[in-house]
Amino acid sequence: MSRWPLGVFASVDAGFGVHLSVAHELGVPTIQLHAPRTTSRTPQRAREFLAHVTDLGMKITVVFGGFDGESYADIPTVKRTVGLVPPETRAARVKEMKEIADFTRLLGVDVVGLHLGFVPHDASDPIHGEVLAVTRDLCNHCQTQNQRVHLETGQESADTLLKFLADTGCGNLFVNFDPANMILYGSGDPIDALKKVGRYVRSVHCKDAKWAERPGEEWGTEVPLGQGDVGMERFLRTLKEIGYDGPLTIEREIPQDPERQKQEIGSGMRLLEELKGTIL
Ligand code: MG
Repeated sequence: MSRWPLGVFASVDAGFGVHLSVAHELGVPTIQLHAPRTTSRTPQRAREFLAHVTDLGMKITVVFGGFDGESYADIPTVKRTVGLVPPETRAARVKEMKEIADFTRLLGVDVVGLHLGFVPHDASDPIHGEVLAVTRDLCNHCQTQNQRVHLETGQESADTLLKFLADTGCGNLFVNFDPANMILYGSGDPIDALKKVGRYVRSVHCKDAKWAERPGEEWGTEVPLGQGDVGMERFLRTLKEIGYDGPLTIEREIPQDPERQKQEIGSGMRLLEELKGTIL
C-alpha cells in the first residue's frame, strides 16, 4: 500500500462513523471499522462482511471496540462511562473486547483499537493498577493471535500516556493518535504530544477541533478538517518527521446530519490529498 492512504471511520450496524456504503461512495481505499454488535460477530458474518469490503475495494486497517453504556455527552460522563476504567463494567468489557479481537482475526485484521477511558494519573490510585492489569490481559490475548492493540489518545497528557505504555510492559501495545481529542479534552498541544509519543503511533485519526474556554473542564468543539486548532499541515509534517506512513483515517461524527457528514469528509479528503502532494 502507498504511503498515507486515505481512510474513514466506518460502521456496519452499530457504533460511530459513516456507513460502509458511504465509505465506498467517498472512494477511500481503507477504513477503520467500529465493531459490529454482538449478534453480528459470528464466523459466518465475518466471512460475508470481509467478502463485501473486499468487493468494494477497501481494506480494514483497525477494528475499534466500543461498549453499551458508553456516553461522550460531556467530560464527567466520559469519565464515568467510557472504556475499561469504570469498575462495575470492567470484567464484562474486557471479555467482550477479547471477543471483538477474535472477530477481528476472522476479518484478517491484526489491530484492535479502543478508548481505555480516564486512567487515573496518580499511580497510587488502585484503579491505575487495576487498569494496567486488564490492559496486559487484553494485550496477552491479542499477542497469541499476532494482533496489536492501539489506544485512542486524548484523555490524558502525552507524558501520562507514555508512562502508562511503559508500565504495561506490553510489546504489542501502541497508539491511535487523535490530535483533535487532545484539544477536545484539553490534554495538551497535539503536535507536542505527537512528537513525544511518536514511536508508539501506528494509526491516526484525522480530526479537527477548537479549544474550549476552560480546557479540561468543558469540551472543545469538533469542527471540519482544516478549520480547527490542530493545524493539518503541521500535523502531517510531524507525522512525516516521526516516520509514520500508515493510513490517514478521517473521523467526523455528525450523526444527526449524514449528508453534511459526507460532504465534510469529502472536503477533508481533498485537503489531505493536497497536503500529501506538497509534503510527501
Ligand atoms: Mg478518534
